[in-house]
Amino acid sequence: MPPKTSPKPDQFLYQVAPLCLEFEATITHALINKDGHPAVLLDRTYFYPTGGGQEHDTGIIYPAGEMNPVHVIDVYYDQEKRMVVHVLDQPLKTRAGESITARIDSGRRMRHMQHHSAQHLLTQCFIAITGLETVSANINGDTPSTLDLSMNGHATGESRAHLISSSELKQVEDLANQIIYENREIKTYFVESRDLATVPLRRIPPALDHLRIVEIDGYDYSACGGTHCPRTGMIGVVKILKVERQNEKLRVSFVAGQRALEYFQECHATLSQIATQLSVHIQDLATAIQHMQEQLKETQKELQLLRAERLHWEAEKLLAAAEPLIGRKLVLASFKDRPVIELRMLGEILKEKPEAVALFTSYDGQKISLVAACGSESGLAAQDVLRDQLATFNGRGGGDAHLAQGGGAASREQFDALLAGAAEKLAVLIRQ
Ligand SMILES: [Zn+2]
Repeated sequence: MPPKTSPKPDQFLYQVAPLCLEFEATITHALINKDGHPAVLLDRTYFYPTGGGQEHDTGIIYPAGEMNPVHVIDVYYDQEKRMVVHVLDQPLKTRAGESITARIDSGRRMRHMQHHSAQHLLTQCFIAITGLETVSANINGDTPSTLDLSMNGHATGESRAHLISSSELKQVEDLANQIIYENREIKTYFVESRDLATVPLRRIPPALDHLRIVEIDGYDYSACGGTHCPRTGMIGVVKILKVERQNEKLRVSFVAGQRALEYFQECHATLSQIATQLSVHIQDLATAIQHMQEQLKETQKELQLLRAERLHWEAEKLLAAAEPLIGRKLVLASFKDRPVIELRMLGEILKEKPEAVALFTSYDGQKISLVAACGSESGLAAQDVLRDQLATFNGRGGGDAHLAQGGGAASREQFDALLAGAAEKLAVLIRQ
């Protein structure tokens, strides 16, 4: 995106020499930036200022005669001054009128160039394969870059989510990479507004003289002020990572060049690690994981059966050891950190025993869980047994005559008091 006012030519030198990453210049002004950091204006600069969806360059500036550089942490274009502002991490000792040597962070610049060029390319490929136009983009060298496709005038409602099929996405990706392999020249040139009609731009910008055109040789033409690779081959490779709905747009995330290589390395390292752990080849991972999921399901089923058997055995044992009280069998058991589902399962088993009256408790240090179960000939209702016990610590819960469940936050003292008084409370209920 070009600036609103034409920059001075010596302030946008990256446009004519995007690969010039080290240069000498003279400081014209040293100032304090609006964020409080020191900043300098230079008589000429190759630094790229934030704009058009692309982040700024970073780098270092060596003051004349100094060995230690200061870091350029932000770069932006000041529309009023028509100058590029270089924000520094600390003040320069050099004054206005003195010379400096600047070095742009080449890795960051390269990532931006690769992603920005890939964005132009993908944009044209999306038009060619799907007819969808890009309305905005965000170029980032570290996390995946994005471009937003407009869905206006296309499918409506739910069908929009499936506007691009996976087959179309692959076609877009294949076409973009094909043009990368063709190593086409990426030209930049300026046109005057009267000649704009001669350039087949995919989006016509507001009339502006001396408009910068970026052309992927014979394939894509766009008005752009960003940094781009001189040939498509330098993009290396482009990979679409995902497409997701963003209101009326489809957001496409992608990686290119160096970042794509790193992404591949990260994914490959992770997959290799998993493949080693499973003792299979990477290509066989999907089958191996599917097999493991099936095995896990079988094991879980078996575990459930064993757990049920164990609980039946435990319930019978508790019942056999139960204290008889006026024709009932009183089962009282307390546990530490026992899942409430297991207490409930024990209750489910014992409620089928006609003369059983059971109360199960568990404490995890903060919360008491309670399950009460009453057989059909016990003469007691489980919800009454539960309510009686919950009253000791203001717990909550409910159920029916045969099974009730509840609990609540409680201190260790409250749990101890519950255990100490539980049998007595039950005996009172039974005698009533
Ligand atoms: Zn561009």
